[in-house]
Amino acid sequence: AESVKMKKDVQRGLDYTPLFRFLLSKVGKRWDSVFSEAVARLDKQEPIFWMVSMDIEDADDYIITSESSYFSGLYVDKDGLLQVVAPEIDETSLSPTCKCCTHTFNGKPFTKKFKLE
Ligand SMILES: [Zn+2]
Repeated sequence: AESVKMKKDVQRGLDYTPLFRFLLSKVGKRWDSVFSEAVARLDKQEPIFWMVSMDIEDADDYIITSESSYFSGLYVDKDGLLQVVAPEIDETSLSPTCKCCTHTFNGKPFTKKFKLE
């Protein structure tokens, strides 16, 4: 996995939060069935691969879907199961980048406060 500072700036405007929540809820499940279920709900496949990498080497530890919404990066392991890239990262480990927004990780508010430094 890449470093914790690695970020992916996902296309603005469209809200794929329900997709990201769906994918998160399928961690540990078979990717081929998760993928067919996800594709059936979408007009295009691309947003799935903002979050999910086929190889942990190219996987992001987390993605940022708007200035303040963060989600775990996911990858497909050798057994074909969906997994979290960096399970040690959660809402308690990242710091907000501004004071004005409520930052969330997988839908949970960050516990760290914004600090000017
Ligand atoms: Zn803000």
